[in-house]
Amino acid sequence: MRITFLGTGGGRFTTISQRRMTGGFRIDDFNGKNYHVDPGPGGLVRSYQFGLDPKKLDGVFVSHAHTDHYVDAEVLIESMTRGMTKEHGIIMGSRSVFEGFKQWGPCVSKYHKTNSENLILGPNKTKVLDNMTIKGTKTVHGDPTCVGFQMEHDGFKLSYTADTKLFDKLSDYHKGANILIASVIRPGSSAIKGHMCSNNFAELINEVKPDLAIMTHFGLKMLNMNPVVEAKQISSKTGVKTIAAFDGMSLEINTSNPTKSKFISLKDNNARQFIQQENNSFQKVISRQENNADKKLISYTRDFIER
Ligand SMILES: [Zn+2]
Ligand SMILES: [Zn+2]
Repeated sequence: MRITFLGTGGGRFTTISQRRMTGGFRIDDFNGKNYHVDPGPGGLVRSYQFGLDPKKLDGVFVSHAHTDHYVDAEVLIESMTRGMTKEHGIIMGSRSVFEGFKQWGPCVSKYHKTNSENLILGPNKTKVLDNMTIKGTKTVHGDPTCVGFQMEHDGFKLSYTADTKLFDKLSDYHKGANILIASVIRPGSSAIKGHMCSNNFAELINEVKPDLAIMTHFGLKMLNMNPVVEAKQISSKTGVKTIAAFDGMSLEINTSNPTKSKFISLKDNNARQFIQQENNSFQKVISRQENNADKKLISYTRDFIER
């Protein structure tokens, strides 16, 4: 299994400034299937940039109807279904994404819903897909139908909080997670409505006790404070290895010991390799786009996970 971050920015100001990318993340080979989670602006382009094939998707998960999570969903659904010519895959997410809820959404048109299975998730709603199980997890967020998930296969559990504030029972939904991925928009103790800050995430980690914790979805204040430093503090506070994701970070997950997962930092080289295979001139242009990942940050994170 591999997890690749196609964007680690979150909130409207990081998104419109693109100080970090906002393409969401990919889970590849989870029980042989590939999923794109929360494809905000850039989800499609960043897939190519980091050498992932958006045609090789089996599922698109959209947690809620905020632009930094859904903007590229429809075009990825088109990729997943070979331009809507084949029936394939599953679209999963909140009620607002499919049907609209109050002023939120819908985010996927009737047309785009027709060639894939549709799964509206809510808290504790569980669905077995092949031999993987996905469970919706509760959030408290601006879009009241926003939903996270916990995926389970062969005893291995991967949890994603989506956007939420820390609330009493949040840890119950993510209990047993081997890997816990969370949206942590603010540093230190400066939480804002409907979101977690670093201290909130440390509390959640203390309750869930995952093998590995990953924070992403950084707002401008977090980026100014340096998420790597925040992650290091959380690690020492909780004793749980916590890493701050960066754009193009990919982890080859060691399911028997996630702390020993292999760390790969993707550059356009990976994309070039893919492009050679595809021999597509449009993608060649994309491959020249800069990779914003700060070299120092990459080497720090590599040292950290390989330690
Ligand atoms: Zn968000
Ligand atoms: Zn949101």
